[in-house]
Amino acid sequence: MLQKPKGTMDLYGEDGYIYNYLYNYVSNFMELYNYEFIKVPTFEVTELFYRGIGEGTDIVNKETYDFVDKGDRKMTLRPEFTAGVIRSYIENKLYISQVRKFYYFGSAFRYERPQNGRLREFTQFGVEVLGVRNAFMDAEVISVAFRLLSKLGVTNMCVKLNTLGDKDSRIKYREVLYNYLVKDKENLCDTCKERLDKNPLRILDCKFDSERDYIKNAPKTIDYLNEDSRVYYEEVKMALESLDIPYVEDSGLVRGLDYYSDTVFEIVSDFEELGKANTLCAGGRYDGLTELLDGPHTPGIGFGMGIERIMIMLKELEAFIPKNRLDVFIMNMSDSSYAYQVLDDLRSSGYSCEIDYTGKNMKGMWKLVDKYEPSYVIIIGEDEVNGNYVTVKDNVTKEEYKVNASELIEYLDMNI
Ligand code: ATP
Ligand code: MG
Repeated sequence: MLQKPKGTMDLYGEDGYIYNYLYNYVSNFMELYNYEFIKVPTFEVTELFYRGIGEGTDIVNKETYDFVDKGDRKMTLRPEFTAGVIRSYIENKLYISQVRKFYYFGSAFRYERPQNGRLREFTQFGVEVLGVRNAFMDAEVISVAFRLLSKLGVTNMCVKLNTLGDKDSRIKYREVLYNYLVKDKENLCDTCKERLDKNPLRILDCKFDSERDYIKNAPKTIDYLNEDSRVYYEEVKMALESLDIPYVEDSGLVRGLDYYSDTVFEIVSDFEELGKANTLCAGGRYDGLTELLDGPHTPGIGFGMGIERIMIMLKELEAFIPKNRLDVFIMNMSDSSYAYQVLDDLRSSGYSCEIDYTGKNMKGMWKLVDKYEPSYVIIIGEDEVNGNYVTVKDNVTKEEYKVNASELIEYLDMNI
């Protein structure tokens, strides 16, 4: 028997329903914030991710799904969306308009060791805001993630906040950090030994080395900010406070990517089920990224959120996900096509409606009624066909009415 690849999922039944519900939920939610949907390719040329995410990161070094296509081009399944969105922004010259606010929702692929909350194909929802550098916009982006999760019923979460400072601050900090880390070189893991010269900041992100006290006590970005960066960070914190978004400062939080600047944040959950995969959402400001991909200097900020991790939480929390209820089940006991015409009319008028196509008897059809829990059951036998009416049974009160075929929609409009 053929099986799905390791680290992928089939979602159907309740899981399929929740997944689809979340997609619709996110789309409606983002309308409130006036973000436009963007769809970018599932695969891009490999170079985009090498440049856009950076060599030396876990994602690019170990986790990408790379392939050579039949035209001998090196391609990669997207491990995240930011690089693709920025590529599109530059390629389509979207920078002509001052501010663009995008959101996306789709699969991302990483070759990781599968476990709860860590998949090889997973779903990311995220936003990217381009063309504006304003502390209240940083707060808006963080509030999108926080409010969306809160409204879904996610509790036990914490917004962690830090700043990396602007380019000048980071150059200064990098030097201090390098001088500190180089003294510990022999204790660093092999990967970090290489990172030391390329980007020492990534060492603070390392799953092994970051656990050691020497690394934990490394100099913090916050102590090396220039005046501009310090003021900006204060403004972001004030903006969050004015919106009542709770946060904790975490000077150890770094996103070890070259292009991150100033604000970085994560939303983590202390939910046991998630184990170490407890980061629900991560993001930050990246004022240098468009230039790195050959575009004009454009400030940007965004985050990515793991939908499957949210699903694990929602199921454990038994959060309220409204059930999709069928309006009408048609119980057809006639031989005519009449019942199918009623079915088609009802659906055309906006009522969700089902019928049995497999020739079940009455008992079998009532079982379907129990399964679908429709608001109404419409019974159609030979009498109904000949008299051009239907019998409508209210599935809650169990009362029955005879309704003329021509008046059925009007009847339902008044009652549902
Ligand atoms: P982690 O430290 O958990 O590996 P990350 O830093 O690699 O996370 P990001 O690249 O910031 O993650 O991706 C944003 C979000 O996407 C994460 O916070 C998480 O919710 C989700 N995510 C990342 N990798 C996976 C995966 N393999 N399976 C499921 N969700 C994932
Ligand atoms: Mg990871």
